Amino acid sequence: MAFETIIGLEVHIELQTKTKIFCNCPNSFGKKPNSLTCPVCMGLPGTLPSLNKSVVDYGIRTALALNSKVSEVTIMDRKNYFYPDLPKAYQISQLYHPLGTEGGLEISTSKGNKVIRIHELHMEEDAGKLIHDKDTGRTLIDYNRCGVPLIEIVTEPDFRSGEEVVAFLDLLRRTLIFAGVSDCKIEEGSMRVDVNLSVREEGMPLGIRTETKNLSSFKAVANAIEYESKRQTEVIKSGGQISMETRRFDENKLVTVAMRPKEECYQYKYFPEPDILPIHISEEYVEKIRKELPELPSDIKKRLIEEDELPPYDSDILTTDPYLYDLYNRTCAITKNPKESSNWILTEFMKMDSPDGRRNFSKDSLGIIINMVLSGKINRQSGKEVLLFIFENGGSPEQVVQEKGLSMISDEEVISSKIKEVLANNPKAVQEYKSGIGKSFGFLMGNSMRALDNKADPSLVRTILTKLLK
Ligand code: ADP
Ligand code: MG
Ligand code: ZN
Repeated sequence: MAFETIIGLEVHIELQTKTKIFCNCPNSFGKKPNSLTCPVCMGLPGTLPSLNKSVVDYGIRTALALNSKVSEVTIMDRKNYFYPDLPKAYQISQLYHPLGTEGGLEISTSKGNKVIRIHELHMEEDAGKLIHDKDTGRTLIDYNRCGVPLIEIVTEPDFRSGEEVVAFLDLLRRTLIFAGVSDCKIEEGSMRVDVNLSVREEGMPLGIRTETKNLSSFKAVANAIEYESKRQTEVIKSGGQISMETRRFDENKLVTVAMRPKEECYQYKYFPEPDILPIHISEEYVEKIRKELPELPSDIKKRLIEEDELPPYDSDILTTDPYLYDLYNRTCAITKNPKESSNWILTEFMKMDSPDGRRNFSKDSLGIIINMVLSGKINRQSGKEVLLFIFENGGSPEQVVQEKGLSMISDEEVISSKIKEVLANNPKAVQEYKSGIGKSFGFLMGNSMRALDNKADPSLVRTILTKLLK
């Protein structure tokens, strides 16, 4: 009998708003523990939350980027639970009236294209971070993350393989980075993935699923799916039953381990959050945000391949990072040469890329340098040198070319006289060339280029050398 794997994802995304969802504390990663807290996000009795409007804006952007419907009225709900990561003993989330519903993203894999449907997406607050210190056996708590705004994205159980899941996460990540709502760093926890997985015999109804957490890379997601799918298949084949539970992925042993039985909904005793009013979202408001949304990776990729005639590989890389894409556009605007622009970015630029360099690098420099090379003002090697110099030290291409004396010698008189010197100093090679020994030409060409400090256009040197040898 043939088994099929069914997967649905719950993905949490931290929004990059300036402040937290219900207070004015900065929303920032990697700061001193418990330095970004106040009575509201610490959940002290008597405090009241006030909703940060930016969170709703970012949420609507996310919904639109994922082709979802935005609800006219969306309501926060209270999810009650007692655990030290959330001192007020409940999380403000959404259950009954989420912000967005019925979205989807089209992925492509080795098996072709496929739409993954998004069931819903909702807003909620993040909880604090518990750090279990193995040496002392104690647990430390950092409340900086309490109240960081999250969007949870819930897909339909549409995935049939780890490959599809990774393709979706990769596209989701790019899309939300380009939409400007999150940096989606899975290693830093600004993107967190829970994998719901079941197996069934083909054609049968959906089986019982497990939920796997603690996945800190796309690789881990793929490995966890592979393991869990095999494990469940073996259990069922040997006559056993899968129990609905939450599991954790062990990255060292590459296995999933049972953590706890899956909580049922009623244990949370959800009810509408009385401290936050229902949020009404007008159609005009949604349209305003839709207009502000930039071009997104799926569309960009298509355009780069169809209109700019770039290979899929290039278009893939250029849509990983809005900075690279913007650099590409500005370079193309100057060079009018898509492939040459892309080549320089994928090789020379990415080789030296760094956050420090980006800070004072003027993006127009690259196009100017490429044009200098294409028009023969400097040679390719000098072009690379200028680019690296500017990236590290700042400055303009024209100025650097001049200061470093990299301009090509284009004066034919100068070139002729240098070549004549070379010919006079190498009578033997000239003699050999005239008696039909072809490789002597290469020797004379090399000497001529060196005599011109490698700063002359090789094709011009070749033409003049040929003429003088006649
Ligand atoms: P809950 O509210 O209990 O978390 P949901 O119905 O919201 O359950 O589903 C949570 C996630 O589990 C969704 O991503 C959904 O696609 C996925 N899912 C639901 N049923 C199955 C199943 N039988 N096998 C695999 N994934 C499933
Ligand atoms: Mg759920
Ligand atoms: Zn606060």
